[in-house]
Amino acid sequence: MPTDPYAWIEESLATIHRADWYRSVQAINERPGSTVMLEGREVINFASNDYLGLAGDDRLIQAAIAATKEFGTGATGSRLLSGHRELHRQLESAIASLKQTEDALVFSSGYLANLGAIASLVGKRDLILSDQYNHSSLKNGAILSSATILDYPHSDIENLKNQLHQHRQQYRRCLIITDSVFSMDGDVCQLPKLLDLAEEFSCMVLVDEAHATGVLGANGAGCVEHFRCTKKPIIQIGTLSKALGSLGGYVAGTKALIDLLRNRAPSWIYTTGLSPADTAAALTAIAIIQQEPSLRANLWKNVAYLKQLISQQLPQLKLLPSESAILCFQLNNPTEALKVGQKLKDAGIFAPAIRPPTVPTSRIRISMMATHEIGHIERLVEALSYIN
Ligand SMILES: *Cc1c(COP(=O)(O)O)cnc(C)c1O
Repeated sequence: MPTDPYAWIEESLATIHRADWYRSVQAINERPGSTVMLEGREVINFASNDYLGLAGDDRLIQAAIAATKEFGTGATGSRLLSGHRELHRQLESAIASLKQTEDALVFSSGYLANLGAIASLVGKRDLILSDQYNHSSLKNGAILSSATILDYPHSDIENLKNQLHQHRQQYRRCLIITDSVFSMDGDVCQLPKLLDLAEEFSCMVLVDEAHATGVLGANGAGCVEHFRCTKKPIIQIGTLSKALGSLGGYVAGTKALIDLLRNRAPSWIYTTGLSPADTAAALTAIAIIQQEPSLRANLWKNVAYLKQLISQQLPQLKLLPSESAILCFQLNNPTEALKVGQKLKDAGIFAPAIRPPTVPTSRIRISMMATHEIGHIERLVEALSYIN
């Protein structure tokens, strides 16, 4: 009797279950916001990447509806064939203006932007140095590129420098890749130091601004602006799906870089253009980010208030260092993290447990929003104090 070649699937699932690594989806009904209907019950939302509350904003919704009525639901083809619209170019100009770069290119997601950019920039004869805590899309982009990949311990600049000393010479091009705000920790990369090393060792630098765009920097341009590095040679990646409340990704940089990507990035060339609705919503979000700095100010006020309450009332909480709108506290194992996540949910607080293999250690991850009210933050702290 030959064995069932698919039997391993059930066995793998059983292993995932035993480790408490099993994941499943939960449905949110109605519009997203600082409170959401989670499986029929209203909870305060600390689980979303919608930092400015724009995903449920009427102005984005109206822009998406208007664009759908005018241009239809789908782009009908890849950008180089039938899928290009004026609206795409307008969005790319708006991103370049927000980022103060020469040009930008929109992809169907941030994940695809990373795959396409990294695979276009380096190849077999090249070297990638990658922060150990980088997002999955950076890591898989590196694998797709066929370059040699060396990880450095999280934000360990000394180690990175040593590796460059040891290995840089043996390769043609070198690319340093990093999250700007680390998505599952909330800390920020040491961009000025990375740029100094890049200059010393003749490396390109690619930063993923997914959790920083619309959030960090005087004008919401991200971590690059926050560190006043806007004029430095940097390849910036980002997403339209977090603070911008839509769907899609982008690369921002020099005209030549963008021109090269349009000719070389497989995840841009061989995929359908962004839908008119997503494009118009993102375009509206960028206008709001530029015109309403008060949204960002509210977000930072909320982050500061939560940190203040935790330090006063819950000093025992093991908070990870954070300079973003993401606050995490550590738990001893996945089982405990799941239990705390469930207790929070019972108390009307939606803040997910993040477990291996996404992160090395289990934690509860809290994402703050500009639209959280004082009472929402106080209820979170109250719930946390019962659990601890
Ligand atoms: C979310 C995220 C992405 C992926 O963006 P999508 O537009 O959701 O595909 C890429 N990089 C980082 C750091 C992220 O957090």
